[in-house]
Amino acid sequence: MNLKLKKGLSIFALVSIIGYANGQEKEKKSMNNNPLLSEWTGPYKGIPAFDKMQVNLIKPAIRKGMELHLADIDEITENPEKPTFENTIIPLEKAGKELERAFTYYGIYSSNVSSSEFREVQKELAPEISEFSSKISQNEQLFKRIKAVYDKSQEDPLDSAEQRVIDLIYEDFAMQGADLNKEDKKRYAAINKELSGLYTNFSNNVLADEENYVIYLEKDQLGGLPDSYVKSAAQAAADRDKKGKYAVTNTRSSMDPFLTYSKEREFREKVWNNYYSRGDNGDEYDNNENVKQILKLRDERVELLGYDNYAEWRLQNRMAKNPENAMDLMMKVWPAALARVKEEVSDMQKVANSEGADITIKPWDYRFYAEKVRKEKYDLDSEEVKQYLELGNLTQALFFTAGEIFNFEFTPVEQGSVPVFQEDVKVWEVSDKDSGKIIGLWYLDPYARQGKRSGAWATTYRSYNKLTGEKPVLASNNSNFIEPAPGEPVLVSWDDAETFFHEFGHALHFLSADIEYPTLNSGVRDYTEFQSQLLERWLSTDKVINQFLRHHETNEVIPDELVKKIKKASTFNQGFATTEFLASAIMDMKYHTTDPDKIDPDTFERETLKELNMPEEIVMRHRTPHFGHVFSGEGYATGYYGYLWADVLTSDAAEAFAEAPGGFYDKEVAAKLVKYLFAPRNAMDPAEAYKKFRGRDAKIDALMRDRGFPVPENDKE
Ligand SMILES: [Zn+2]
Repeated sequence: MNLKLKKGLSIFALVSIIGYANGQEKEKKSMNNNPLLSEWTGPYKGIPAFDKMQVNLIKPAIRKGMELHLADIDEITENPEKPTFENTIIPLEKAGKELERAFTYYGIYSSNVSSSEFREVQKELAPEISEFSSKISQNEQLFKRIKAVYDKSQEDPLDSAEQRVIDLIYEDFAMQGADLNKEDKKRYAAINKELSGLYTNFSNNVLADEENYVIYLEKDQLGGLPDSYVKSAAQAAADRDKKGKYAVTNTRSSMDPFLTYSKEREFREKVWNNYYSRGDNGDEYDNNENVKQILKLRDERVELLGYDNYAEWRLQNRMAKNPENAMDLMMKVWPAALARVKEEVSDMQKVANSEGADITIKPWDYRFYAEKVRKEKYDLDSEEVKQYLELGNLTQALFFTAGEIFNFEFTPVEQGSVPVFQEDVKVWEVSDKDSGKIIGLWYLDPYARQGKRSGAWATTYRSYNKLTGEKPVLASNNSNFIEPAPGEPVLVSWDDAETFFHEFGHALHFLSADIEYPTLNSGVRDYTEFQSQLLERWLSTDKVINQFLRHHETNEVIPDELVKKIKKASTFNQGFATTEFLASAIMDMKYHTTDPDKIDPDTFERETLKELNMPEEIVMRHRTPHFGHVFSGEGYATGYYGYLWADVLTSDAAEAFAEAPGGFYDKEVAAKLVKYLFAPRNAMDPAEAYKKFRGRDAKIDALMRDRGFPVPENDKE
């Protein structure tokens, strides 16, 4: 189970059951003195005591928290009165608040400040947590009461918020086998327990391979690398007791620029190999067997529930509704992406030939020559662009956008007034620009470091709902920018700047929540990336450009010409980007719609990609043995397509802004956006919410235009 996802990024039943729990403080509960379980105190109606975190407190906190949560559930099931929404669903929504607090710290340890010590704890707790989840999701007495409330609501509907809550909860329980007979239930729980161990093992293996494969370069092997990269590589080497050398670490933020700029083809191949072999090295950290086991167990589990395959089970409450709809969309885009790759490779080969390089383009050449083609065709120098993308300015750009669209104001809190888990973390107070009402806090953990997982993500430490007291939202963004040498600015690539906006979109989605019950905070996997992807669009609006995209030394606004080139270049390399993504998304769906007895991951990946005519110059964005979205938990399993699904909505919604009189700052469209697409979270069916915003269903046309692909004839209007 991916706990990081529990606070609103996931709609998982198990998770939402554990997740949003809250309850009245009870006598029995004041018995413990573990600070990780304690009620949050201090300003903002209480904030996490990150200054009191200790790894050795985690295990007892989680164990005690689970015990208290189960006691809350017992109280519900022991109620002699007839089940009602008030005596069953409301206490269920409030249950387990100590555990939720403990999981906040657990989440920080697993994502932000992991260590071998914590990983041991995690390994030990994973099966216990899974067993605990099963105890709730398989609780017959509890399900009986839920079903009674649900059945009654089918004849005599509740108010819309209450009805949505009971529908979601009932569906979650049913999807998780609450209706199974005793024997099947036992097996179901055993499978979950085994899976949770496999998930933890899977992600720890990937992390181990990220830490274990570092390439050290000598001074004369740095050809082509930008200064900023060299500086941080020197620092990374020094951090690893190799002063005087230059470390290329095995993470995306290190690999990607290296492959883009390094002239050392041999090292490019090595770096590429290390990165795309994570979890696939045939040693103790190899994940192939884990994948095989995971697929078998998932299949067996949904078979108990009467489904043909995992994907069918998983997608029933997604916006796509079933695997066919998701595959349909992907296969509509796939041929256009492949055709574009052919053009890209031929452009790159021409450049290589003209330079007299006697090579055929290989996967480790793609980024390098793409950058050259970009410079030649689009005359765009990514390094030049970076000079105008300074982290502090970009952060102000986020705040400006939030102010214009959400009416939020961000004010830095005084250092030390809000505890943080690492000295780099900064905190802002978020309030309403007009009323001054406090909306929440925003935590930013910007830099890469050992023990922090790679990539960027958003999470909440506390989500908003009316039932448990309308407390300020505690939202956080986490990135892996390379920490600059002292006194140097953090300059980021255009892609990373977009990602920064993206994750902030998730944070705004948390912060703008206006819902009655904790369950309504849950995200819908193929919908919840839409809000964040849409936010990326504000990076290239005139108002953001003119105010915040300024040269870090001269303060000069990024030149018009350069912006035009960036916009023109946005369709550049879409063959690569779309293909590497779709290959992963399609594989995800294939893995979960194929009989697992016929799957040997290594062969299956190779053969399926071959059937799809995967170009040999490109590899899946996430190859199977390190596809954490899919195999380190269930959050994105058969859900990776969701990014594309969300992209269709994004392009279509962006056109709504572009067509409005006020463009991206049109007040009317912005108000509709917040009202229908952000504030309700899962209180409204996503398809219905989108229709209210747009006046019609989403169409694929805008997406194809955005990527510079031809719009399919039968879709044209
Ligand atoms: Zn996202």
